[in-house]
Amino acid sequence: MSTNDNRDELENKNNTGNESDSEKNKENEYEDVCFMCRRPESKAGKMFHLPNGICVCDDCMHKTMDTVSQFDYQNLLNNPTLMNELNKNSGMPNITFMDLSDFQNSGGIPNSQKIKKKKEEPKVKPEFNIENIPAPHKIKEKLDDYVIGQEMAKKIISVAVYNHYKRVSTGTMDDIEIEKSNILMIGPTGSGKTYLVKTLARLLDVPLAIADATSLTEAGYIGDDIESVVSKLLAAAGNDIEKAQQGIIFIDEIDKIAKKKNTTSRDVSGESVQQGMLKLLEGADVEVPVGASSKNAMVPMATVNTRNILFICGGAFPDLDEIIKQRLNKQTSIGFDADLKDKWDKDPDLITRVTVDDLKKFGMIPEFLGRLPIICTLKGLSKEMLIQILKEPKNAILKQYQKLLALDEVKLEFDDDALLAIAEKAMEKDTGARALRAIIEEFMLDIMYEIPKDDNIGQVTITGDYIRGKGGPRIEVRSNDVPKLPVKEATNI
Ligand code: ADP
Repeated sequence: MSTNDNRDELENKNNTGNESDSEKNKENEYEDVCFMCRRPESKAGKMFHLPNGICVCDDCMHKTMDTVSQFDYQNLLNNPTLMNELNKNSGMPNITFMDLSDFQNSGGIPNSQKIKKKKEEPKVKPEFNIENIPAPHKIKEKLDDYVIGQEMAKKIISVAVYNHYKRVSTGTMDDIEIEKSNILMIGPTGSGKTYLVKTLARLLDVPLAIADATSLTEAGYIGDDIESVVSKLLAAAGNDIEKAQQGIIFIDEIDKIAKKKNTTSRDVSGESVQQGMLKLLEGADVEVPVGASSKNAMVPMATVNTRNILFICGGAFPDLDEIIKQRLNKQTSIGFDADLKDKWDKDPDLITRVTVDDLKKFGMIPEFLGRLPIICTLKGLSKEMLIQILKEPKNAILKQYQKLLALDEVKLEFDDDALLAIAEKAMEKDTGARALRAIIEEFMLDIMYEIPKDDNIGQVTITGDYIRGKGGPRIEVRSNDVPKLPVKEATNI
């Protein structure tokens, strides 16, 4: 017997005998490995634990069961020649047919062949606990740290989320028919719809799935089934059904599934999708594949109930302001107000006057709107708001760059004129705050490339002229008597 065998045997004995705690802990560091196919737990899934420390994966166990159930034992046991043949051909030396004690000697898998379990990432403490949800003003306060402006939207959402999770945690959701606080968010692109929902989900520590309504089609047509959004949420919850059932699903570009006008063909990506979503929004049991995006025979299915899932739909709804304007103009063209016909033309807050009727006119079906009882609107971002977005949020883009350069012991400043120039450039692009990052990245590329070359540089100030292409950044050399910023302090910026 080789030394290796001795070692394995010793390990086996340890497995079966009285294990000390430290040995047990050592064992826990390793993944279980299937005795038959040798795949680890992370690949093969949960294992069946047999006596003598033998693990068998689900697949192998099923295959074995299938084979066993088809076997003609009586015939085999009555036929010693066949039995001998089988043992000879089994390809496993020292293993007689179906004698589990044989596994005992050759069974344990040496540690060198085992795979260590991945260390669990340390859990970040969530800001809120959905079982004991804080008051709406506290939720809004936290949102204020990240999302600039959009006061009304933040207020409406804080109240809606508070009510929703309060109902979920007290279990009174069942008494309510459709009265879920599903939300419809209307606002131009880049105004912070997705960002607001993402921030909210992070603060609440609930799983979030973001789906695009344009990719959804009626079941059976090319595109994603409507139910695929639930399977995305299940994946975001790490396949934990309980967690998924309290999550948030954000469906973007919801305006793209408006009823198509003047169409004679079947509207598989418009009205049909709205129809298909009714059940989900209201609360239904949905069969979804686990760990895959499409259903097929090989994928296990799970049932997720959507009753406690908060649905938030968002869209830019272009031309909706025309519909609102028409309605308002019709009202004012009657009687004494008739002369104020163009009163609404220049109203920047026109979108806040939206009604359900306007949305119906836009092409959303009444049943769908009925299941999104809360409507909130986000404003297009002004120049001042863009400047605030650049510097104020906890993770503002400027702070990120300042931190990066501080690691090189260089101080980065943006003067007020530079911020204005960046905001003006972003306004031209008409994509809201989304343009900011692209603009800054373009200008920072040279800075990030050049500055680390020269150790003497102590401070860089980005000026408006540099952004407008009329000059360069202001560079200050580190004076010798000024001590270098310690790295620890620099990273605290
Ligand atoms: P949309 O309204 O099209 O969903 P996003 O939420 O995706 O726009 O916004 C794009 C990016 O712009 C976000 O990742 C965020 O960094 C920034 N942003 C947009 N609006 C705001 C805001 N009100 N406050 C802070 N950052 C914002």
